[in-house]
Amino acid sequence: MARIPTTEANGYVLGRIDYQERDLILRAAVEDEGILSFHARGARGSSRRFAGGVDDFVPTRFEYVKKKKGLCRLAGAYRRTVAEPSAADLAAFAVRSYVAELLLVVVEEGHPTRFPFRIMEWVTEALAAAVPTEQRRARAGWVVDRVHVILLHREGRLPVLGSCSSCGVGLESVEDVFFTTEQGLRCGGCGPGRGAWPDCRIDDLAMLWGLYAGEPFSGVRASKPLQSWLLGLVDQVADKSLKSRASLHQFVG
Ligand SMILES: [Zn+2]
Repeated sequence: MARIPTTEANGYVLGRIDYQERDLILRAAVEDEGILSFHARGARGSSRRFAGGVDDFVPTRFEYVKKKKGLCRLAGAYRRTVAEPSAADLAAFAVRSYVAELLLVVVEEGHPTRFPFRIMEWVTEALAAAVPTEQRRARAGWVVDRVHVILLHREGRLPVLGSCSSCGVGLESVEDVFFTTEQGLRCGGCGPGRGAWPDCRIDDLAMLWGLYAGEPFSGVRASKPLQSWLLGLVDQVADKSLKSRASLHQFVG
């Protein structure tokens, strides 16, 4: 019998469900393919079947048979040798499982995009960088904040950063900044909109710019008001409660 041609691509397992007696259905972020579902035959029955491992949230190389619709058949999976977060870093694990669940909720399966893969690559790289142990929680929180900012930008839910939506003055030069979803960001002179982000200050805005622009971790995460504003917007986008939120709250705060 002729060998069925397989495709190889880098990716991450984001979630799994048991299927039939010995199989798994894996949902994965696959480079250039968005999110795909793999049927991993015998993955629960034998450790030899996928000796390279099909662990969650780790850099993986998949070999699979592409299907136009429905499940792709997983032919092989191998762990890629790239830097990974320390296994002792519980905050890093909580972040990866949260981001994986978030991606599965907000990204529609089967639409080619690099977005989920790139997010997982960045999260892995950011959490693998060496920081003092006492900064791990803050760094994990910073990763979550940045994922929220990137996701909200993709969904068109972030205000235009940089200038007052009314008079156009550069916001880096003003003292007070206000934001509502109706009015966007405004300088203090154009009238405070009350509501969505009442405690916004210019250093919050600078933090938001930094998260958006990809500035490196400074040792602290965003202020509580900025965190909860981002979280509120993400909740609107996700439109369902995420199971991994509890452990995120426990290990990251
Ligand atoms: Zn203004």
